[in-house]
Amino acid sequence: MKSSEPSASHTGLAFLLVFLLLVSGIVMTGVFYYRHLEQQFRAKVEQQVSAIAELKVSELVQWRNERLGDANAFYDNPAFSILVRRFFQKPEDTEARRLLQRWMSRIQTNLNYRQVVLTDTQGVLRLSAPEASPMAVPYLVKDAAAFLDSGKLTFLDLHRDTGDAPPHMAVMIPVFDDQAGRRSLGVVALLIDPETYFYPFIKRWPLPSLTGETLLVRRESNEVIFLNELRFQNNAALNLRVPLDRATMPAVQAVLGREGVMEGEDYRGVPVVAALRTIPDSPWSLVARMDIAEVYAPLRAQLWRVVVVIGALIFGAGACVVLAWRHQRIRFYRERAAAAEKLQESESKLIETQKMAQLGHWSWDVKTGAVEWSEEVYNIFQLDPEKFTPHINSILELSPWPEDHTRDKELIQKAMTSHKKGAYDQRFLRPDGSIGYYHSTFQGKYDGDGQLVSIVGTVMDITARKRVEEALQQTAVELQEKNAELERFLYTASHDLKSPVVTVRTFLGYMEQDMAAGDAGRIEKDMRFIRAATDKMARLLDELLKISRIGRVVSLPVRVTFRNLVDEVLGAVAGYVAERGVTVKVGEHDVALYGDRLRLAEVWQNLVENACKFMGNQKEPRIEIGVEARGVETVFFVRDNGMGIDPRYHAKIFNLFEKLDPKAEGTGLGLALVKRIVELHQGRIWVESTGQGQGTSFYFTLPRAIHNPEKGRKT
Ligand code: ADP
Repeated sequence: MKSSEPSASHTGLAFLLVFLLLVSGIVMTGVFYYRHLEQQFRAKVEQQVSAIAELKVSELVQWRNERLGDANAFYDNPAFSILVRRFFQKPEDTEARRLLQRWMSRIQTNLNYRQVVLTDTQGVLRLSAPEASPMAVPYLVKDAAAFLDSGKLTFLDLHRDTGDAPPHMAVMIPVFDDQAGRRSLGVVALLIDPETYFYPFIKRWPLPSLTGETLLVRRESNEVIFLNELRFQNNAALNLRVPLDRATMPAVQAVLGREGVMEGEDYRGVPVVAALRTIPDSPWSLVARMDIAEVYAPLRAQLWRVVVVIGALIFGAGACVVLAWRHQRIRFYRERAAAAEKLQESESKLIETQKMAQLGHWSWDVKTGAVEWSEEVYNIFQLDPEKFTPHINSILELSPWPEDHTRDKELIQKAMTSHKKGAYDQRFLRPDGSIGYYHSTFQGKYDGDGQLVSIVGTVMDITARKRVEEALQQTAVELQEKNAELERFLYTASHDLKSPVVTVRTFLGYMEQDMAAGDAGRIEKDMRFIRAATDKMARLLDELLKISRIGRVVSLPVRVTFRNLVDEVLGAVAGYVAERGVTVKVGEHDVALYGDRLRLAEVWQNLVENACKFMGNQKEPRIEIGVEARGVETVFFVRDNGMGIDPRYHAKIFNLFEKLDPKAEGTGLGLALVKRIVELHQGRIWVESTGQGQGTSFYFTLPRAIHNPEKGRKT
């Protein structure tokens, strides 16, 4: 019997699935958390760069305003204009020159200008503070007229006078003669050295940062020009130019007027986050930027922490799942072991029960053709499960009688088509050649479409029951025979017993008359008849008693040889034989017998006596006694050359009180007795004779003892 194996891989798969769900849950939570952190961080950084940009812009605006304020010390100042006119009209007026010089020097030193210069309307340098280092100011020469025409304060933006000259800016102040209808006198220029304050101020990053930087840029036709010195590139101020089509560059976006925060690539091609601002009333745009790498560096550290936590959580979840799985496995195996134990217990109970009931079961799977027999089926058919592989027809084939075969097949077919349970009783041949009987039941199993899927059945050993039934049947037949025999017996016994009784009664009547007449001679004759009749009755009763005493089984069976028995019998009837002048011949062959010695002797005695009795007119009466083999049987015979028996009476002579010649001597019980004794020993008896004085042969079979009679005699 097989038990279905529960699949471990299914639960394993379920646990793996749970684990994967947990992992994806943990990873997703981690990713969301990190994204959230990133957003928070990003917002903070954007706020930071925006705030810095804002601060710088307001400071720059203020710085410019301050510079313009400085210029107001000269602009539209009648006192200054008068002094300039005096000095230009009379250059030898040392007083005016000294006053102008002092004025300009004060402004230059106090307000930290590189140089304050005064030119005439042609741009020719007339005065400079400090005096010692008068510089060539080419644009003054070139553009003085233009400044004077506009009549306004002008901020001259950062530039280099020549390719390698240091960058600088200037505030240009036109000077007018108030008295002569605002005639132009000249130009004062406040020259600003960006290195002293401007560049360091722009460069300053208010927070500790490795990459934070502010850039000041301006558009020049299709290019961005960087105005200040850069943190990561030397000599960039006014030298570094980038075409406007580099849209990812924050500086480009800034000069195109964009404001706010963006991510892009800076002049090094490095990813940056930048805040963009334009500075009002100036051509400048400001970019406050930081490398993304630096911005996200703390976040990277945070990422590692998140990864470690996620790893730990995944490991924990894995460990929990493995533990739970192990726990489940252990419980599963424990339960399975318990179930297997229970199954085995119930299976052994089933086997035991089947053994006790001599009942086995079998099944046949139509699809696979697999046939399964329970242990008891093998036991019933005495087949070895190790050597015998059953198939669907195996049971039928154990009954090699074609008529049985056909009947069983029809019964099975009928049960299958009617979808009902079927059954039959059948005899079968065991491997040792003995015959047994089984009761078979079977039932088909069908699928939804009514197709046969399998057949299950039982086989029950009913040999013992069949034997009892057979014995009962035999007994019933025997009982019937016995009854018939008894009836015949009663009839013939009463009939046969009646004749001596009638004789006695008749002669008693005669005797009464003869006694009255006093005839002594007749009385004696009457008494002889009466005695003869009573003798006959006594003999009859004796023989009947003998027959009635023959039981149903041989009591005290012993081993005896044929020759011994015959010698004994011939000794007992020697007088009788000699009296009739009969020659008796006994065959040489001897066999050992097994049975009731006295009864067996009676068989030969009766047959020999009968042979002597019914010799008829035979002049040379002869009897032959012997044993011969006929096929598998050992047959004994007693043969005479007497009167013979007409074949019509062969069957009758073995009945009780059956005499062919009513006047013949004997009771008619001898052969009945012989037949009983032979049958008691499981043998049979028959007669062969043609009648008409051709002699008679009696044949009978008896069970042989297994040992050699010669050996048996010696021991
Ligand atoms: P009984 O005891 O009267 O001899 P049996 O039963 O032995 O009766 O025999 C029945 C009858 O069978 C006999 O009366 C006889 O007619 C016939 N019979 C038996 N044995 C022989 C024999 N050897 N030869 C001829 N007839 C025989």
